[in-house]
Amino acid sequence: MDKIDILSLELDEIENILIGLGEKKFKAKQIFRWLHVRRVFDFDKMTDISVQLRTALKEKFCINRLFVQKKLESHTDNTVKYLYRLNDGNFVETVLMEYSYGYSICVSTQVGCKMGCNFCASAVAGFVRNLQPSEILMQIYGTENDMNIRVSGIVLMGIGEPLDNYDNVLKFLRLVSDKDGNNLSLRHVSLSTCGIVPKIYELAQLRLGLTLSVSLHSADDMRRSEIMPVNRKYHIPELIEACRYYIQRTGRRITFEYAVIDGVNSSEKDADRLAALLRGINCHVNLIPVNRIRERSYRTTRGAAAAFAKQLGKRGINATVRRTLGSDIEAACGQLRRDADKEISENGGADK
Ligand code: SAH
Repeated sequence: MDKIDILSLELDEIENILIGLGEKKFKAKQIFRWLHVRRVFDFDKMTDISVQLRTALKEKFCINRLFVQKKLESHTDNTVKYLYRLNDGNFVETVLMEYSYGYSICVSTQVGCKMGCNFCASAVAGFVRNLQPSEILMQIYGTENDMNIRVSGIVLMGIGEPLDNYDNVLKFLRLVSDKDGNNLSLRHVSLSTCGIVPKIYELAQLRLGLTLSVSLHSADDMRRSEIMPVNRKYHIPELIEACRYYIQRTGRRITFEYAVIDGVNSSEKDADRLAALLRGINCHVNLIPVNRIRERSYRTTRGAAAAFAKQLGKRGINATVRRTLGSDIEAACGQLRRDADKEISENGGADK
C-alpha cells in the first residue's frame, strides 16, 4: 500500500489516523508541530515521540520533500529562483523576492498548465499534473530552510492555474495558515487566476481574506479570446460580474493583472475600454511589461507600460507598473523548467 503523504494532511486528519492506530490524539499535534513549526522532515528526529510510534509513523506515512535542481541568485537584487525536482522527476519553479517589508515567495500550483495563454512560457509545454498540497507547501518550507529566513507573503502566481487545482490549493491555504502550524495570515496571500468564473464564486463564499488577482490583459472580448483561450469559455462580462460579486461578498479589493504588449493591448482605445470596464469597481491595475518568451514576438518597454499607466490615470483608473525583479536570472516564468526538461532529455534522464 502506498504511504500517506503526511504534509498534505490537516491536523484533524492526522488525529483520526493516530486514533485508528490506537494512539493518543494529542500526539498528532506534536507531529504537526515538528513538521510545520520546527520544519523537521525526518520521523527519527522527532525526539519527543516514542521510538515505537516513530516506527509506526514511518510505515504509514511519507514526508514529501523537494530537491533543489537549480538555484539562481540575482546580482541586481536579492531575488532567488529555485527549480525544484519533485519525487516523480517533474519540476516546478519557485521565486523568492526581497522587499523592504520582508520576503515574498511566488509558488507554482501545477506542473505545466492547461490554460494556453499565448504569451506565457508555462503554456508551451502543456499540462502534466496538479501539485499536491505538500508540494506547494514544501516550495515555501524548502526555500525558508535553504535561506534560513521566514517569508511574510505568498503569491500563487508561479506555474499553473490555482483555481484549476482548487481542492489542493484550498487545502494548502488551510495548512499554511493553521494556527497550530505555520500560522501565516491569509491576508498576506495573493492568488492569481486567469478567470475560472465558477471557482471565483466558490472562493468568494469562503471569505478567506486573501487578495484575488485576476489576469485580464485585455478589455476587448475578441482580443482576450485570442490571447487567453479561457476567455472563449468565460467571457469578459461574466468574469467582471464574478469579480463584482467577489468584492461585494468579501469586502476585498481585486487586483487586475495586465501584461502590456505593444500593438496588442496598449493603445489609447485599449485604455478607454479598460477604464470603461473597470469604472466603479474597487480594484487596482497592475501593469506588467510583457516578458519575452522564445515562441512569440511579443514585446514592450517599461516606458510603454508607464505611458499606459498614465493613460489609465487620466481616465480615473488606479494603475501601477510592477517592479521587475530578478530579470538577470531568467526571463519569463516557465523558462527554467523547460530548460531543465531539455537538458535532461538530451542527457538521457534525470538523476533520481
Ligand atoms: N494562472 C494564473 C497564475 C500564473 S501566471 C494566472 O493566469 O493568473 C502569473 C501571472 O503572470 C499572470 O498574470 C500571467 O498572465 C502573467 N504572465 C504570464 N506570462 C507572462 C509574460 N510573458 N509576461 C508578463 N506576464 C506574464
